[in-house]
Amino acid sequence: MVKIDASKCNGCCACIGICPVDGVRLVGGKAVSNEQCVECGSCIPSCPTQAITPNEN
Ligand code: SF4
Ligand code: SF4
Repeated sequence: MVKIDASKCNGCCACIGICPVDGVRLVGGKAVSNEQCVECGSCIPSCPTQAITPNEN
């Protein structure tokens, strides 16, 4: 799953809106990825604060 830096996330939900598989959800006002994520990468450029990065594994 993608990594999301909570310190950069402003809770705008752009990533949630673009994710085709419900792989990211808002938890306590911050986006958190989950096991549904298929690493499609669509959310990465959608984030206005560059909070999302690919999993390096
Ligand atoms: S990489 Fe794709 S599947 Fe994973 S959270 Fe982002 S949009 Fe959803
Ligand atoms: S698009 Fe970026 S700033 Fe917006 S909720 Fe997702 S991770 Fe947070």
